[in-house]
Amino acid sequence: MKQHIAIDGPAGAGKSTVARLLAWRLGYLYLDTGAFYRAVTLHFLELGLGKEDLERGEIARFLQSVRIDICPGDETRIFLNGRDVSRDIRTPEVDALVSYVAKAPEVRNFLREVQRRIALSRPSVVEGRDIGTVILPEADLKVFLTALPEVRARRRWRELALRGKKVDYKVVLKNVLERDSIDSQRSCAPLQQAQDAVVVDTSHLTVEEVVEKLYIMATEENHGGSCGCLFRVL
Ligand code: C5P
Repeated sequence: MKQHIAIDGPAGAGKSTVARLLAWRLGYLYLDTGAFYRAVTLHFLELGLGKEDLERGEIARFLQSVRIDICPGDETRIFLNGRDVSRDIRTPEVDALVSYVAKAPEVRNFLREVQRRIALSRPSVVEGRDIGTVILPEADLKVFLTALPEVRARRRWRELALRGKKVDYKVVLKNVLERDSIDSQRSCAPLQQAQDAVVVDTSHLTVEEVVEKLYIMATEENHGGSCGCLFRVL
């Protein structure tokens, strides 16, 4: 039985949905590492910071006023300086800035150890961009989920629409492509497939089919574990 499962891949590949369902089926902790980067981004947006400010290298100073608490579970709940921002981090404004925030080594160093500590605290399914390469290089199963860009953008567009955010599909596609490009070209912990990862293209698969595939890969032996409690991050 695989105790630690790393799921990486580009935006909209279906990582969150699949990882959450897989964790639920296995009785494992589900950890969405993108939520951390989104919470830091929301904080910067609320301070009125944009890309230019991040490029000026003032990030370390602004990070001093960030405290993140996370409650992993079926739906990761995330708190920014004591406020539940689980919904506020999923907006087009956060989408537009998050990859600029996530490429800063200061931000990645700030989040890396805590993500690793939570992921190793119990059997887990952890999803992000650098899980198999940096956060859990020793994971028992590494999966790289991918899909055609148009399919990923359509999924993201639908997700935003369900949350009541009306955004032009072309804007969503542009954002997905831009994030992929920044995430995979950054020098610190870029989005990349771990050498020992299994690639699963979800373009023509249903969520259930992907979860079933991963479940089969994950359950070669017996497992234990439970999930859901509050982790104080800072
Ligand atoms: O997974 P999600 O789309 O919510 O992630 C938002 C952004 O956070 C990504 O586009 C990426 O820039 C960043 N991220 C990252 N490393 C992770 C998870 C997310 O750089 N492990």
